[in-house]
Amino acid sequence: MVGNGLCKIRENIMIKKYSSLLMIVLITACGNSEVNHSNTNQIEEKTYNWRLVTAWPKNYPGLGMAPERIARLVEEMSDGQMKITVYGAGEQVPAFGVFDAVSSGSHQMGHSGGYFWKGKVPAAQFFTGVPFGLTADEINAWTNRGGGLELWREIYEPFNIYPIPAGNTGTQMFGWFNKEINSLDDVKGLKMRIPGIGGEVLKRAGGIPVTLPGGELFTALQTGVIDATEWVGPYNDLTFGFQQTAKYYYYPGWHEPGSMLELLINKDEWNSLPNHLQVIIETAAKAVNQDILDEYTARNNKALRELVDVHGVQLRKLPDDVIAEFKSIAHNILEENAAKDETVNKVYQSYLSFKNEVTEYHKVSEDAFVEARNN
Ligand code: CA
Repeated sequence: MVGNGLCKIRENIMIKKYSSLLMIVLITACGNSEVNHSNTNQIEEKTYNWRLVTAWPKNYPGLGMAPERIARLVEEMSDGQMKITVYGAGEQVPAFGVFDAVSSGSHQMGHSGGYFWKGKVPAAQFFTGVPFGLTADEINAWTNRGGGLELWREIYEPFNIYPIPAGNTGTQMFGWFNKEINSLDDVKGLKMRIPGIGGEVLKRAGGIPVTLPGGELFTALQTGVIDATEWVGPYNDLTFGFQQTAKYYYYPGWHEPGSMLELLINKDEWNSLPNHLQVIIETAAKAVNQDILDEYTARNNKALRELVDVHGVQLRKLPDDVIAEFKSIAHNILEENAAKDETVNKVYQSYLSFKNEVTEYHKVSEDAFVEARNN
């Protein structure tokens, strides 16, 4: 449009100032430009209406809004060329059917957490987070600048899925209990909803881990199907109403130090997109990846105050020796899983090497500063 406008202005100037021969040359050039532009328009006119399925309840605050915001940004940035319709868990596929839906191509896009797919892709857990692992900033850095993203795309390639980071919850809470956890004995026989490697740790400590989608947790806890549950943190947990069925709220969330969410795209559909739409999707996801973390950081403490002050929730820190035991078990499990599976080992070595590097620096930067600020 701008090019055409400039050509018109130039034509008018030429008519006034120069010879007819030169004028013909310039108008011809502008004419060619218009032909090209018209071709470009024909390509751009193709519209895309995609469906995105999620593992979250529809319009769920925080993580559930990530796909909604990506959809809105993509539609606005593409000037309506691409529209994405978001479906909550169970609307088109069950929460834990998202990966298969995108892999098969029944849906072009999905939004979920990689650790839900540990049965199919054991190494996927590193791209949500692992116990005593990377925080939100750190996992973003590993993924975007430390080789993580390339590994992630490599391990999803056999499933015809192209993953993009798309949200982060920050450090979670250990979760909701109806009894105090004073020692490891209190964990034995405890049936708790806790996915990923955190669940494996609980199992080895004598507990019974269960994986259930978020939307089923309140009922499962209320009816006694589970004794305890972790979910995310105060901002999300308050909305599910766990404070109505459990008295104790434990921290720290050693099992999920900075859980990254994923935008899944069917690889064939991704490859069929023009480059500018791929750039728009990547850019929208990157913006939302940070935006969701900001939302949790901004909202969590207010929600925690409400849980404690209004609902009388008892906030408890896990005993140090219980945390130390969980840490030791987690280390053993990560090492054992890596020894059993070449792909897991490849991802684990990258993750571990990055963690060691970043930990060394954060000890003299962020960690030292936060200690100085808070004490
Ligand atoms: Ca969680």
